[in-house]
Formats: sequence, structure tokens, C-alpha cells
Amino acid sequence: MLHEVTSEHYFMGRLQHGEDLLEALNHICSQHHIELGKITAIGAVQKAVLGYYDQRQQVYQTIRLDWPLEIVQLTGNISMKDDKPFAHVHAILSDASGRTHGGHLFPGTIVFACETIIHVFRGPVFQRVLDTTTGLPLWNMP
Ligand code: ZN
Repeated sequence: MLHEVTSEHYFMGRLQHGEDLLEALNHICSQHHIELGKITAIGAVQKAVLGYYDQRQQVYQTIRLDWPLEIVQLTGNISMKDDKPFAHVHAILSDASGRTHGGHLFPGTIVFACETIIHVFRGPVFQRVLDTTTGLPLWNMP
């Protein structure tokens, strides 16, 4: 079931060269008390760590890309986990040949330049709790 949320406002700006992309996004959410919303960004990273969820084993496999990449698309949502704002982010990154790699964004992805827009929503509390079927922290909503 989906829930109605309303558009509040946006934050727009760039992240700092050399910072951890996922940590920076989570920090911005905590700093500005953003508890519900959407993230988009484009830019480039110096290196990246992406994840692929093994549905059988119910664990993330990490994919390490230790070279510069373009952020073709970064998209994510913001909700609550352990009573703190939590950014769930996926990214499609391209290499020098234009080939893309994609997946769940992990810490260890380092910003080269990143133009970010965060769309803040107002709505019910979306709290992540462990879902026993998938092994993932999913929204605890009816
Ligand atoms: Zn994910």
C-alpha cells in the first residue's frame, strides 16, 4: 500500500570533493532534520563501492570500483531507521568506455564532484524495521 505525502521544499547544492558520498548525504539529512524525501544527484566519484543483494543468502555482495567514474544517475529515498534519518541510495556509474555499473550505494564511494537535489516531503513516519521475509530493513507500513 502506498501512502500520501506532500511536497515541502528542496535543498540543492554540491558535495565537497573528497568526502564520502553516502555519509555526506546522511549528514545533510540529520543536520536539516529531513526525515522523509527523495534524493537525486549527478557528478563524478573518485572510486565507488556498490552492493548487490543476494536474495538467497540474504546478504549484500560488494562491488569495488577503484577508479574514477561518472555519476550517470543517483537516486534514493530518505526515511527513518533506528530513529535517525536514513538515506537509501542507488547509483548508476559509468567508466571511461561509457560502460555502466549499478547498485546499492555503500560507504567508501568518494566524491569528485556531486550536484545534489533533495526533495523534502511531509507525511507519515516511514520507519525501517527488519523484514523477516527478505532480510532487509523495510518500511514498517501497512
Ligand atoms: Zn538498496
